[in-house]
Amino acid sequence: GESKQRSGSYARYAPEFDHHSPERLMLLGDLRRALDHPDAPGVNLYYQPQVRLDTGETIGAEALLRYQHPERGMVNPAEIIETAEHSSVMRMLTERVVDIALRQLKSWKDAGYDLRMAVNVSVRDLQSPEFTDFLTERIDAYGVDASRLQLEITESALMADPRRVVVNVQRLSDLGVGISLDDFGTGFSSMQHLRRLPVTEIKIDKSFVTSLTEDPDNAAIVSSTIDLGRALDIEVVAEGVEDEKVRKQLEVWGCHAAQGWHFAKPMNADAFLRWLASSRDR
Ligand code: C2E
Ligand code: MG
Ligand code: MG
Ligand code: MG
Repeated sequence: GESKQRSGSYARYAPEFDHHSPERLMLLGDLRRALDHPDAPGVNLYYQPQVRLDTGETIGAEALLRYQHPERGMVNPAEIIETAEHSSVMRMLTERVVDIALRQLKSWKDAGYDLRMAVNVSVRDLQSPEFTDFLTERIDAYGVDASRLQLEITESALMADPRRVVVNVQRLSDLGVGISLDDFGTGFSSMQHLRRLPVTEIKIDKSFVTSLTEDPDNAAIVSSTIDLGRALDIEVVAEGVEDEKVRKQLEVWGCHAAQGWHFAKPMNADAFLRWLASSRDR
């Protein structure tokens, strides 16, 4: 994505879309070996605050995968997902991500922060009923409130096998888990997904948000998505807020919450805790 190129923090080495290239196969093998290990060396989550626009309060975080490859440095998460999604590594990866995220949520709760945690899930996870079982078991084990967890689902994930995905998402929703439609507006059937799934939240993709004060088309898309959310009683979160002008406009339009570099970049767990402490003092 555009953000990585700008910040230059990810190694670029593998060609896009070729799951069978030697680089991809090597990455897959390295990931599998890392995940086989109990501490999964190199596999980590960063947390980006989600901020309520009317009060400025941090209401939670999105957990974002970071993989520090032993030789290649930080690998772009989108590339990891693309590589893993067609293999059994995806399941291992998601289970690890869920486990780390729920453990973190519990530790925030113990520190006196009642936050929510948003976790990204892939097509592979939603096609299998075992994922729901795993999630139920982990929520129980950590003793966290299911409604504090949001699963972010991307539209492309839903294209793959709608019927099975709908059944599993419904089960998760019955547990009390929040269902968030990620990258809203970038796919072909956003509206259908809204009708088919028990959606509790829409996330407007950053490609519409970042430039909304400069681009009237994006402004129209974002403001009408906020109106749609209000009409359907679904919370709307904007991602990719990079400056105060955009933040202010979203607040004026009545958007519930936002995340983006204007507030904070994704951070490791220690830095996130410092962020929480400093925003409590504000
Ligand atoms: P996403 O879920 O839409 O996440 C938002 C992306 O926007 C993140 O990129 C985040 O770092 C970036 N971002 C946040 N604020 C700003 C901003 O103000 N400006 C710009 N330009 N970018 C911003 P990241 O961390 O590289 O993740 C990329 C994608 O990889 C995610 O998009 C998500 O689809 C996927 N992903 C990340 N972690 C996981 C995971 O644990 N599991 C799965 N299945 N997918 C993941
Ligand atoms: Mg997301
Ligand atoms: Mg998103
Ligand atoms: Mg996005």
